[in-house]
Amino acid sequence: MAAAALRSRGGGAVLATLLQPRRGYKSTFRASELELQRSQALGTPPAPRDLVFGKFFTDHMLTVEWERERGWGRPKIGPFRDLRLHPASTVLHYAVELFEGLKAFRGDDDKIRIFRPELNMERMQRSAKRVCLPEFDGDELLECIRALVRLEGRWVPRDPQSSLYIRPTFIGTEPTLGVSPPGQALLFVVVCPVGPYFSGGFGPIRLLADPQQVRAWPGGAGHCKLGGNYGPCLELQEEARARGCQQVLWLYGPEQLLTEVGTMNLFVFWERPDGAPELVTPPLDGLILPGVTRQSLLELAHKWGEFAVREAPLPMGAILEALKAGRLREMFGSGTACVVCPVGEILYQEQVLSVPTMENGAKVTTRFLRELNDIQYGRVPSAWAQPV
Ligand SMILES: *Cc1c(COP(=O)(O)O)cnc(C)c1O
Repeated sequence: MAAAALRSRGGGAVLATLLQPRRGYKSTFRASELELQRSQALGTPPAPRDLVFGKFFTDHMLTVEWERERGWGRPKIGPFRDLRLHPASTVLHYAVELFEGLKAFRGDDDKIRIFRPELNMERMQRSAKRVCLPEFDGDELLECIRALVRLEGRWVPRDPQSSLYIRPTFIGTEPTLGVSPPGQALLFVVVCPVGPYFSGGFGPIRLLADPQQVRAWPGGAGHCKLGGNYGPCLELQEEARARGCQQVLWLYGPEQLLTEVGTMNLFVFWERPDGAPELVTPPLDGLILPGVTRQSLLELAHKWGEFAVREAPLPMGAILEALKAGRLREMFGSGTACVVCPVGEILYQEQVLSVPTMENGAKVTTRFLRELNDIQYGRVPSAWAQPV
């Protein structure tokens, strides 16, 4: 009888019924239910020149708990504190964890703006799906983040090269060693003031390109911002440092495709063999983290309409050929931390390849930096920069 019902209704419908949340289950938290407990011990924001990335945190943090039976609890902003976790918490054993990174900027007009945060909310939902962390309404989280940034306003540096870095994090907290979707989870957001990325001036970096290790692979999770993707990158990152390089140039496959630079997306500005200038970045084929900066640069370049813009694979062979023919003009990484970061050299098979980004005036690279900064600091009105 039950089997007949299953057949007649179709497996999908039955599954949907079985998965129907219980009565009273809350499928999202609501910013309107935000609880605020103010800290009694307020810190002193460091001067912008003393800021070190990710070392200084503000007075408050946002937390929201989720539980399988009841769903989401009320979001809370309270004093910044250590977390208490059961030693068997899913996150500690199986890296059921994701994070995001975005920034708030204090404009010349003293208004605080967040850069394209809805894109981070969407990416966060995609990451959550991959590790079976629960859904929530991204607009509600964004509203809670705005409340946190407004509350911590005095921590948003008054400096045209500094900003407030926002780190949403989502972890599985169920106290079990079973490998299964967590029945308990914690979403939290901490924020920290960050200083100029190029404190020593806008200088080019040297990359280590070593095909022995890969960051991501087809069918993997390299396109999701999961903590589990980053720990395994440290060994080669350290090797890079030991060999005088600042970042790893992540290659993939027999064609040695250039994929990403450290934790940045990669762009090349070159002349095609027919002489036409072109901006190229690898396509979102699963190996690439879909950066908000990457998307913004592509959209800007399309809007300028001054050169071809292409999302296409970049094999090492094509780079070597372009370098040899003098057609490669600029190479840079892109990401929230720096916006753009010029590449000057690549250490590849015991050879140092010289990339003439600075020699060519880093014209495209710096134009991207200037235009995005102008938007972020509110010098140019744009829907990409949203006042909190
Ligand atoms: C976060 C990240 C980027 C850059 O993304 P943005 O949204 O532009 O900051 C690029 N690659 C990796 C691997 C990343 O983790």
